[in-house]
Amino acid sequence: MLITDPILVSGWGRNFSSLSKRASVTSIEQAQELLAQTDNGRGLLPVGLHRSYGDSALNSGGTLVDLSVLNGIVVDPLARTATVGAGTTIRELESAALAHSLFPPIVPGTGFVTMGGAIAADIHGKSHHKTGSFSQCVNWMKVLLSSGEIVQLFPSDKEFWATVGGLGLTGVILELELNLREVRSNSADVNEVRVKDLSQMIELLGRSDADYEHTVAWIDLSGDYRGRGVVSLGNYGSEPVKVRGGGSTGPSLPSIGGANFITPLTVGAFNELWFRKPLKHGTVALNKYMHPLDGVNNWNRIYGDAGFLQYQFVIDEGGEEIFERLFAGLRSLKAASFLGVLKKFGAASPAPLSFPRPGWTLTLDYPTTVPGLEKFLQGFDEELVAAGGRIYLIKDSRVSHSLVPLMYPEIEKWRSIRSTMDPAGLWQSDQARRLRLC
Ligand SMILES: Cc1cc2nc3c(=O)[nH]c(=O)nc-3n(C[C@H](O)[C@H](O)[C@H](O)COP(=O)(O)OP(=O)(O)OC[C@H]3O[C@@H](n4cnc5c(N)ncnc54)[C@H](O)[C@@H]3O)c2cc1C
Repeated sequence: MLITDPILVSGWGRNFSSLSKRASVTSIEQAQELLAQTDNGRGLLPVGLHRSYGDSALNSGGTLVDLSVLNGIVVDPLARTATVGAGTTIRELESAALAHSLFPPIVPGTGFVTMGGAIAADIHGKSHHKTGSFSQCVNWMKVLLSSGEIVQLFPSDKEFWATVGGLGLTGVILELELNLREVRSNSADVNEVRVKDLSQMIELLGRSDADYEHTVAWIDLSGDYRGRGVVSLGNYGSEPVKVRGGGSTGPSLPSIGGANFITPLTVGAFNELWFRKPLKHGTVALNKYMHPLDGVNNWNRIYGDAGFLQYQFVIDEGGEEIFERLFAGLRSLKAASFLGVLKKFGAASPAPLSFPRPGWTLTLDYPTTVPGLEKFLQGFDEELVAAGGRIYLIKDSRVSHSLVPLMYPEIEKWRSIRSTMDPAGLWQSDQARRLRLC
């Protein structure tokens, strides 16, 4: 097993890095052997592809357990299930499933997410209002506990739900079985609609949930922050489309020498172009529809060396006035977001730390260098909590630990299950220490 010397690792937001060893395990036995090798009190953390934005997949001074080699996929076309290793990526699963006219029912905005990362964050996609979050399609998972025991967990087990959304802190997910859904082709039928402000966007998204499997809106958070944008409505298609190459690795962004390429001017111009772009009506490749940014390698580098924050929160239906307060604050900071996304969530999963729950979720990207942004967000976090909302921890690197129990009121239940699964406190992360999760 290869264990590196401490190396610098960062989350997708690249807003800070942390030094840790990295152990690449090539078998379940090696993962078990690793348990005996931690001696400095900073523990182990299973990791995927570091697509989490903040510090969820960092463990400074400790060891990251890289499971990318555990990426086997066995599809059972009759049962419509797949048994997959924890290191299997969403895009690998999609292409193996499509060969049998099947598809994972819940996929996130990028295909570069592992099964382990998908469960540990209980990820959601554009279909949340119909399908719920990732855990809803998982039949069982095998988890390596800190004792060295491997347990098979089912949705009837409380340990299953502690591991779902459990941020890698209950054990190493090794393997799982999930349900797939039938599809008629490798395409999506898409209908895009331009809307002039937030109220139109909310109205259209809300009324489209019944007819469309996939609903999401790109929202322009620049200029006058009216919330204009493009609503994208989609269903699985029936016409096959030709997909060039793997369809996922595209051009790299031009090198920008570490400079911050994102300014209110460039973001404003980008948003204007996006708003005016020709709308799609018709059949598009499913992978491009599901993972629109995967065609651009390393897009996270356009924010320059200081990196960026992604802020995602959910608020109940009826609590929409908080958007206006957010927009007013961002307008006064001249903080223009490159990627604003609005989506309506459906039912929550039973996992105590799962993020999605019924209501509106808004996602924004900002360079960390916007003056006054952090102070503003601290105030906004408190308003959000007062309004009953919460942020998505897998994207966080900054929220105050004191707000977490208010955002996630079932955290005590999670802590108590977690402590029986890991009494020695072996699984650790920078985020767990910062937010005092365990
Ligand atoms: C472009 C982009 C689009 C995205 N779109 C969405 C979206 O639409 N919806 C959404 O919900 N999220 C989205 N995300 C976030 C992403 O889905 C999550 O951050 C996911 O957890 C990343 O998976 P990963 O394999 O990279 O894991 P990492 O980022 O490496 O790790 C994430 C967490 O999973 C834990 N973990 C990883 N592997 C295991 C394992 N085998 N056992 C136990 N714990 C493990 C880690 O300890 C860590 O806590 C997006 C991210 C990007 C960059």
